[in-house]
Amino acid sequence: MKITDLKCAIIGNHPVVRITTDEGIDGIGCGEASKPYLKPHVLFYKEYILGEDPRDVERTIRRIRRMGAFKPWGTAVSAIEVALWDIAGKAAGQPVHRLLGGKVRDKVRVYNGNIRPKTGGGYTPEGMARNMKWMKDLPHNFSIIKQGIAFHGNMATEFPDYYYGDVELKERFPKRGRLTERGLKHTIECVEAMKEVLGDEVGLALDVGPGVIPQDALKLARALEHLNLMWMEDMITGDYTPFVLADMYRDVSDNTTTPIHTGEQIYLRQNFVDLIEKRAVDVVGPDPLDVGGLAEIKWIAEYADLHGIDMAPHGTLDGLIGLAALVQVSATMPQNYIAFELPNAEADWWYDIVEGPATDKNLVKDSHIEVWDDPGLGIRLIEEETKKHLREEDADFFEG
Ligand SMILES: [Mg+2]
Repeated sequence: MKITDLKCAIIGNHPVVRITTDEGIDGIGCGEASKPYLKPHVLFYKEYILGEDPRDVERTIRRIRRMGAFKPWGTAVSAIEVALWDIAGKAAGQPVHRLLGGKVRDKVRVYNGNIRPKTGGGYTPEGMARNMKWMKDLPHNFSIIKQGIAFHGNMATEFPDYYYGDVELKERFPKRGRLTERGLKHTIECVEAMKEVLGDEVGLALDVGPGVIPQDALKLARALEHLNLMWMEDMITGDYTPFVLADMYRDVSDNTTTPIHTGEQIYLRQNFVDLIEKRAVDVVGPDPLDVGGLAEIKWIAEYADLHGIDMAPHGTLDGLIGLAALVQVSATMPQNYIAFELPNAEADWWYDIVEGPATDKNLVKDSHIEVWDDPGLGIRLIEEETKKHLREEDADFFEG
């Protein structure tokens, strides 16, 4: 079997990859809904993989893997890797999880870091408690809910004099700096109010940064120890930070019982070695659509497990194709697996253009998704319906 074409269409705002073969089997993959600008980056790799046997996933991906980088520049390689697994699964008539070593569990736990009320309650203890109640009452019956505080989201810019660093209300401006005493106290009050709503039935995870200085990270982690948080995520580095700073994380995690988590922006297993071998964090959370793909995140899960570190994959904006990929690989992870972050469809029409077990709107029951055995990822694009959402320049997406 040989790869005959690599295509990329922007569907909604997802870069969606389609790889075709000389045997009529195709595979799909995608990147987050925040990255439509990656189309040229995906197509850059085409000449390197044409003619390869897509079932030799590792050999094919090795041709392009070194030309990727931390988020968002690991997405294209990752999306291609996922599409290769989809082909390999379909060709073998097997679900991807079976090619990755088989199921360790029949259903995978998911957590909510994504489904929130449309109108934010504001960054007050009352507002955050109200939002938390809404999230707790969802029919998914989530057993873990994640909320953004401090530098993640707008708490740092909405609360007056939250920190000493530069306050710039520009998109993607990296917030960083020492917290004021008022900022610190306010953060603790908000977290306590949220946990009050959840009680001990639902675990609370916090997305905190990046940009918190290590000393404040430790103060916050210690002050919140009594709440038995699931984890505090990306405090120092994280989302769109092109480096890791494992030693700073270790200074924090060594001195608190609150679990410390990072990793969604990191590309490749090699960049987890420091975090894992130094036991600098308690939980790692790569995104399969950023880290280099499904085999890559599986490798990291295994290596983390050898070091007593848990795994909770990132997934917020990965859409329904990403959801299918996350289910497949999460089913194969060792017992350090906690839950993955449930992505949802960026728009309701996504449910019209895909078919397969991943596309059930009520997929999540009691915070779990049952793992399906359909060949490949278990999600397919319906050509006629998808075409209604293709841009003019992507009209040939289904050709070949
Ligand atoms: Mg995060």
